[in-house]
Amino acid sequence: MNATVSSFLKDAKRVSADLRHRSLIQNALKGYLVKRDEKKAQFQDWQHARQTAAEIKWDAINHLDKYLAQFADNAEANGAKVFWASTADEAREYILDVAKKHSVKSIIKSKTMTGEEIHLGQALEKAHIRVVESDLGELIVQLREEPPYHIVFPSMHLSRHEISDLFQKKLGSEPTDQPEELTMIARRAIRGEYIKADMGISGANFAVAETGMISITENEGNARLSTGLPKVHVAICGIEKIVPRMEHLALFLPMLATAGAGQALTCYNSLIGGPRQRGEVDGPEEFHIVLLDNSRSALLADPEQRDALHCIRCGACLNVCPIFKNVGGHTYGTTYSGPIGSVITPHLRGLQQWKHLSQASSLCGACTETCPVKINLHHHLLHNRRNAVSESAPFIEKIAMKIFAQVATKPKLFEILSVLARFGDFFLGLVRNTVLDPLGAWTKTRSFPNSAPKNFKEMWRERAAKKEEAKR
Ligand code: SF4
Repeated sequence: MNATVSSFLKDAKRVSADLRHRSLIQNALKGYLVKRDEKKAQFQDWQHARQTAAEIKWDAINHLDKYLAQFADNAEANGAKVFWASTADEAREYILDVAKKHSVKSIIKSKTMTGEEIHLGQALEKAHIRVVESDLGELIVQLREEPPYHIVFPSMHLSRHEISDLFQKKLGSEPTDQPEELTMIARRAIRGEYIKADMGISGANFAVAETGMISITENEGNARLSTGLPKVHVAICGIEKIVPRMEHLALFLPMLATAGAGQALTCYNSLIGGPRQRGEVDGPEEFHIVLLDNSRSALLADPEQRDALHCIRCGACLNVCPIFKNVGGHTYGTTYSGPIGSVITPHLRGLQQWKHLSQASSLCGACTETCPVKINLHHHLLHNRRNAVSESAPFIEKIAMKIFAQVATKPKLFEILSVLARFGDFFLGLVRNTVLDPLGAWTKTRSFPNSAPKNFKEMWRERAAKKEEAKR
């Protein structure tokens, strides 16, 4: 068992037995579900909106080469510097080079899961650059020295009392359990950092090919300050964030807000089209966009699962997932947790090491049903399972499955064998000794069931006979 699997199992067992944790998460999500369903009413037809969004993303992802080139050309024409990063290393090195060129000592960062994906904060700190998270939830997890718990709500696993304790310890504040006061404490702590920062770093929710602009949605205004005040702004943008036209934001912005946080629209929606222009009084002098691949192309090359790149990172699939709600976000050990994380992480970080995430699902389909861009999430979990088995199953397991497939697809043979199995341990013993026991991992956690006293066909025949009898 590899280390990621054993740590997943250990943490899942511990967290799912923690009733306090479960009630915190379930309470937080209860409010979200009510608000989300209310806000869906702003769409004339939510299902139609989902279908339209899926079609726009289908076009964007299936013509990604064209739209990315268009985006980069337009962004450069607006004065941005565009860097194409194939890997996380390339992205980090580029950003570190920009920081070095500008003798950056301090960075203010707004929320970026793509930045988390490439472990940017750690790389900058290693280079002795001070990094301050400006999003409240991100600041809280930064102070706790832990990764975000959820892609939209980074600190949802904490109570206000825990946050108050943390602020007392790290920021020297007075105890309070009032959310407004906690927000003001964080605000006072961060305000000066915007002024001090030599560089601002952000993510991008969407990248509009038609205009070369990035779109950032947020609720605190921190992204605007982080991107507008420092002299240099670097935006990290996964290549899948492309939407072809500006008008598409009219659908995606309210959809992201509704699906992600149960809001009609997030409080601040910014479009950033380039550095400060002549005559403008604010904005950065330099604007860099890092377009990150980091194995997204490998996912793009897979026609079966390519639609996982349609994801707009709303987090809705996490919010409805019974596994996420019980094992919690940190248990996954990945940047992207929940159903979408379990689908894409094996593509981004290696199937064999992360295949266990696709097993962490009841396959109930709630994720697929809720996804605003209609990603077939639970089927992709099955695809990952199948791919992992066909890549690495032991020879004997492959043979056993082939035999089972032959038997299961031939009703007569299946019936004969199921009758034979009933007559004793001979057949079962043979299967156990020759096929199951050598597989070890199977028999360690499963016991082979006794055969049923009657098979389905026999029961069906009996039932039909009884009905006939009753009619007479
Ligand atoms: S897969 Fe769908 S529901 Fe999950 S985060 Fe992405 S867009 Fe949202």
